[in-house]
Amino acid sequence: ELILAIETSCDETSVAVVKGGRHILSNVVSSQIETHKRFGGVVPEIASRKHVETITLMMEQAVQESGHRLDEMSAIAVTQGPGLVGALLVGIVAAKSLAMALDVPLIGTHHIAGHIYANALIYELQYPCLALVVSGGHTELVVLEREGSFRIIGRTRDDAVGEAYDKVARALQFPYPGGPHIDRLAQSAEEAITLPRAWLEPDSYDFSFSGLKSAVLAAINQAKMKGEELDRSALARGFQESVIDVLMEKAIRAAKQFGARQLLLCGGVAANGGLRAALTARCEAEGVPLLIPPLSLCTDNAAMIAAAAHLKWKSGECTTLDMKADPGLSLEDWSVGAGSID
Ligand code: ATP
Ligand code: MG
Ligand code: FE
Repeated sequence: ELILAIETSCDETSVAVVKGGRHILSNVVSSQIETHKRFGGVVPEIASRKHVETITLMMEQAVQESGHRLDEMSAIAVTQGPGLVGALLVGIVAAKSLAMALDVPLIGTHHIAGHIYANALIYELQYPCLALVVSGGHTELVVLEREGSFRIIGRTRDDAVGEAYDKVARALQFPYPGGPHIDRLAQSAEEAITLPRAWLEPDSYDFSFSGLKSAVLAAINQAKMKGEELDRSALARGFQESVIDVLMEKAIRAAKQFGARQLLLCGGVAANGGLRAALTARCEAEGVPLLIPPLSLCTDNAAMIAAAAHLKWKSGECTTLDMKADPGLSLEDWSVGAGSID
């Protein structure tokens, strides 16, 4: 089957056509980073307006590049949540119009299920598996007992990893999004300033990054007050090492406890060179197969939404046309077989 998917949850307008849940025929992405850069972060109203301006062109391009006609699509998938409500709405209105005009099913899709199933576009997933989701808005450990079933065993209690990266980067005067800048700086450092690690309770799979972020900000302020030169790269490396240490330890412990046959790294922070390298080495040593999608599928894109929607297509769980954007959509409730999502 052919699924046309639309993703507009944040600052990327993306449309894809995916065959059989895994063959990407087209996946066009228009990023708004340049627009939001001068504000130091995503401005919701501007994001919505930009989506309106680009969505039609993206749909036309995606269909054209797919080599198929619009009337050959079997279903229309769209990100229902989580995300910015106004941004989500633009994609949802477009998706409903298409589904109605073509008289095909609509599939409201969970954005994080998309980040996880980006892996299915490249690899053969084996269950049970464990997903480490690290993105701009989420940091979660998710157990998948079987295809399409999601159980969150740990999540951040405050900042998401990407959010912490962006805040630290901002304090060091890097432009938005700052994650890649910190990553580069950290990897160039000769030494690291040791920073705290938030392990929380011994058996907890939850995360916390706000204390670490505060420690970085305090170090910056202290240097400023004393008029000392700050070793920015050593600070960046200390921050990155603390983040990676905690993510890696908890992911490996969970993978063992839940008998995961694969560890899936997903979300925009999966682009982090330090994290990829450390996790690759550790997983090899522990004998846990590690899957990481190519960078273009780690950041927001519509092909991953099609991959997740394919699960609902197979189980026949479609969405009614009065579906609404849901900024707080629950991943566990979206599991296949959990029932209707409206
Ligand atoms: P969510 O998926 O939770 O709704 P999002 O879609 O905005 O959030 P993504 O697009 O998955 O998030 O990821 C963007 C985040 O990834 C930003 O915070 C960005 O700084 C971070 N990021 C990108 N590259 C790197 C890197 N090399 N190192 C660290 N962080 C990075
Ligand atoms: Mg984004
Ligand atoms: Fe995302």
